[in-house]
Amino acid sequence: MRKKICDKFNIIKNVSFKTLSSIKTGGRARYLAFPNNEEDLVTLITYLKSHHKKYYVLGNGTNTLAPDGMYRGVIIKLTELNTVIVNENKIYAEAGASLNRVIGLALANGLAGLEEGSGIPASIGGGIIMNCGAYNFEMSKVLNKVRLLRDGRVIELDKSECGFGYRTSTFKEDDVILGGEFILKKEDEEKLRERQKAVLEKRKNFPCLPSLGSVFKRKEGLIVSKMLDEMGFKGFCCGGAKVSEQHAGIIVNYQDAKSKDVLKLINIIKNRVKNEKNIILEEEIKILSK
Ligand SMILES: Cc1cc2nc3c(=O)[nH]c(=O)nc-3n(C[C@H](O)[C@H](O)[C@H](O)COP(=O)(O)OP(=O)(O)OC[C@H]3O[C@@H](n4cnc5c(N)ncnc54)[C@H](O)[C@@H]3O)c2cc1C
Repeated sequence: MRKKICDKFNIIKNVSFKTLSSIKTGGRARYLAFPNNEEDLVTLITYLKSHHKKYYVLGNGTNTLAPDGMYRGVIIKLTELNTVIVNENKIYAEAGASLNRVIGLALANGLAGLEEGSGIPASIGGGIIMNCGAYNFEMSKVLNKVRLLRDGRVIELDKSECGFGYRTSTFKEDDVILGGEFILKKEDEEKLRERQKAVLEKRKNFPCLPSLGSVFKRKEGLIVSKMLDEMGFKGFCCGGAKVSEQHAGIIVNYQDAKSKDVLKLINIIKNRVKNEKNIILEEEIKILSK
């Protein structure tokens, strides 16, 4: 067990991003904090802001490309904020709870609406910010309210105030999601489990090498991965990063990749797509800089 440098906020030093980001690239974070609860999180962020210290709130790290080298700020991981409360057809989940755990609880309580999100490796906070989704599911469809820290105050927003779009939202840059309330529908647990099984079956072909899921945002009327496949990108490499052989929209770490390999690959793809198709691709993943 690594020695804590601050007990109150569970802060440890010098942590490898390979353990924090699902693509397992990147250098190290000078500090990593695991606040114990909402109150400690608010205190920590208020302190860091008032002292002009750099920080980054990380969920499960499944959509974040970390910098190579040293990040000289505090990475705040919300794993300890993981309370989930089921109340009739409503579920309130704290930001650090995993979406799949919340789905498990919804199913066990015969509550429908989240099951098609099964297999998305998001935290509730990251899922809300990214409005994650798959098939017919999108986080914002079942979300009712979001609790967040904004400008030093804890507030609640109705989902209509969050500007949800395809894998986007309009939260402010330094908003911190504390949790979300979902409104679900009562349904037979057996049927929900069947739907979940079907979704997990479809996800079986997902690349199993470390990745961040789809790298680029979908474009109106265009399936980006299909286009990249037709352009021959599958298997294309830069250093240890490679366009997945199974899914051309996903970059995998196949051999001790650095984040700079991933970024180089992204730029090559974007340039070729711009030159040959006159299409500007945008990253869906979040790129954390030093
Ligand atoms: C194998 C695999 C499969 C995937 N499949 C899908 C899929 O089917 N559909 C899909 O939509 N996505 C998918 N993804 C991408 C990813 O899981 C989603 O984008 C998810 O929403 C990211 O959640 P996270 O907690 O990991 O976010 P992180 O990567 O930790 O963070 C993402 C962004 O949210 C911010 N953030 C996180 N938590 C908070 C918070 N509490 N407050 C404020 N900001 C916060 C971070 O600062 C960052 O900007 C997949 C990824 C992988 C690796």
